[in-house]
Amino acid sequence: MLRSTGIAICLTACFAGSSHGITITLDYSYDASNFFGSGNPAGAAAGAKAKASLEAAAGYLSGILQDSFDSIATPPPFYSSSTGPQFTWQWESFFPNPATGATVSLQDPIIPANEYIVYAGGRSLPDTKLGIGGPGGYYPPSAGGSYYPSDKSEIDAITNAFFDSLATRGEPAGEFTRWGGAITFDTDVSANWHYDHSTPVVTGKNDFYSVAIHELTHALGFGTSDEWNALVSGSTFFGAAAYAANGNSYPAVNGGHWNYSTQSTVYGTSTPQEAAMDPNLTTGSRKLFTALDAAGLADIGWEVQAPVVVLDGDFDGDNDVDGADFLLWQRSGASAADLAKWEANLGMHLAAPIAASVPEPGAVVQAFLAALLCAGSIRRPRR
Ligand SMILES: [Zn+2]
Repeated sequence: MLRSTGIAICLTACFAGSSHGITITLDYSYDASNFFGSGNPAGAAAGAKAKASLEAAAGYLSGILQDSFDSIATPPPFYSSSTGPQFTWQWESFFPNPATGATVSLQDPIIPANEYIVYAGGRSLPDTKLGIGGPGGYYPPSAGGSYYPSDKSEIDAITNAFFDSLATRGEPAGEFTRWGGAITFDTDVSANWHYDHSTPVVTGKNDFYSVAIHELTHALGFGTSDEWNALVSGSTFFGAAAYAANGNSYPAVNGGHWNYSTQSTVYGTSTPQEAAMDPNLTTGSRKLFTALDAAGLADIGWEVQAPVVVLDGDFDGDNDVDGADFLLWQRSGASAADLAKWEANLGMHLAAPIAASVPEPGAVVQAFLAALLCAGSIRRPRR
């Protein structure tokens, strides 16, 4: 979960091409209040922006997950002859209903290969919780019936393949895998959401995109799985990738998170930023996925690959160099060299269609000087 206290919306195009990888598929069928649409407390337009932000966050994470997952599909009944005995298989997934928190069970859902299904919705969450996320589960699968002895080996092979697809999805044993999970977001007015992932976060508001990244990462098993727990002793996370990403030091954990204020760098860049997977979010700020967050996923068994940032100064990796990048640089306290890169490429876009709507460079610079002065005069408590 993520609690409230106080940049990078990467499109698929900004990642190195890969012939395989996982797609996080969002499923809104349990969004009973239509939080991601016309039922959003702030109106239908806000609901649409929330959905766009969540889809962008899922797209970002899909872009870095390089695993290959088998499909999960209950085998059709096996008949030893046209009129002979029948043998059948079943499985049942479960997850918390995003709209209520009550457990939902689904009989024999079909999970396509390389897909990770995440049920999304909203409900009123207690105190300052902004979101909740975690992987789903499944009940022990069943197989039963009767068959002619000559069919035993064939039936055993079907059973083993089916059970393996549930337990490992074809990945090596010991790595976190699952059919998917569920996430939910606070619908209370007090959440004070900034829904639009394409605009800088308004002062005093909670950035929905940041929380979407955070909860989706929980849904991928970060802080929420046996594989995670196996690496935690006391308040330290003993993962090799996290050790390397944390300057050759095992990072401290706080519950299913990195400790408060844990620092890292925006994944695939050298831009310093607080980790996305620490326990809270400062209002008025956006947190991108960091190298340490990625290392946490790697340590529980995900194959991760950093997004490729191909434009200097594009600190948030969204294929342009603009005000959002400046704000990220300013917040991060990064180097003058990084600022020089930003200045050099200000106004640049990778995609020509977007460039057509870019303001004149002079206008952008002016807007930014103004933003700098404003931001410099404001001191917000970070926590
Ligand atoms: Zn959390």
